[in-house]
Amino acid sequence: MIIVMKRGAAQSSINAVSDYIESKGLNVHISKGTELTIVGIVGDKSKITTDNLLALPDVEKIVPVSESYKLANIQFHPEETTIKINDNVSIGKNTFTVMAGPCAVESLDQLMSTAIAVKKAGATILRGGAYKPRTSPYSFQGLGIEGLKMLKAASDETGLATVTEVISTASIEAAVDYVDILQIGARNMQNFELLKEVGRTNKPVLLKRGMCATIDEWLNAAEYIMSEGNLNVILCERGIRTYGTDTRNTLDLSAVPVLREHTHLPIIIDPSHATGNYKYIKPMALAASACGADGLEIEVHNDPAHALSDGAQSLTFERFNDLMETLKPYCDLAGRKL
Ligand code: PEP
Ligand code: MN
Repeated sequence: MIIVMKRGAAQSSINAVSDYIESKGLNVHISKGTELTIVGIVGDKSKITTDNLLALPDVEKIVPVSESYKLANIQFHPEETTIKINDNVSIGKNTFTVMAGPCAVESLDQLMSTAIAVKKAGATILRGGAYKPRTSPYSFQGLGIEGLKMLKAASDETGLATVTEVISTASIEAAVDYVDILQIGARNMQNFELLKEVGRTNKPVLLKRGMCATIDEWLNAAEYIMSEGNLNVILCERGIRTYGTDTRNTLDLSAVPVLREHTHLPIIIDPSHATGNYKYIKPMALAASACGADGLEIEVHNDPAHALSDGAQSLTFERFNDLMETLKPYCDLAGRKL
């Protein structure tokens, strides 16, 4: 349920509404736009008497919110959210943010050379997995804390912000000291305890879509993080399982306009895991910029043929540079700064 305040509502009226809701033991989420203020109610709304609320000064109307996710809901927050990563980087409206780097951090040399190359090409965030959730237990599992230290060193050297996947309590505790964004991978999208734990950190979270997840399940996963107090959630579409076998997954670009109807959170597209093939990254990246996404997450490797994971979908430095140059006019057309 949301309470829409009258235009220009007095602060004392907004306070009176929140006091009433809190007196019933429920939580309040206030969204102040340039014109409208919306007071969202989170919790068991059967404790609320709508007639009492409507009688308070400056209350325009009460609108029920049927979806089970509230904080992630566009009705709670009609303006698109922009998430500030640091003084130079933000993700949201008007910008097109590119995160790039290797699937896995393999060595300092590999990461540093990749960081320098992707920065030169125009990326602002370095990706790299230190904890790798691999299909086989015998595949490379990541360098763990050593990998996190390398991400920090590459960030210090280049000024790039960093994103890395967390898969457990221990990896969250370690990563918060070294990186700027915590990634929840597709395989953990419904690991509710993990979601709650990143929700208790103060780092922005890149939440990837589960490989079989509906939009509703995905937004409820975002709600798990937000309900713990961390409102800085970025959604990442990375392809879903279909019957197609020509690509690793099927990139659901229609998720972008669908999400825009339901949520205010920023949306990133990962064409690398979606297609599984370096040849398809560029057209899908261009399509992402055209359909309204807020940016990309792309795998780039100094030597894809010898990558310890996901070499087939990794771009060389040259291909990444070419992609960024081609992308520029598309972003200009979309009114976004690359
Ligand atoms: C990744 O980005 O490193 C990754 C494992 O992707 P996903 O969780 O989308 O499979
Ligand atoms: Mn990968």
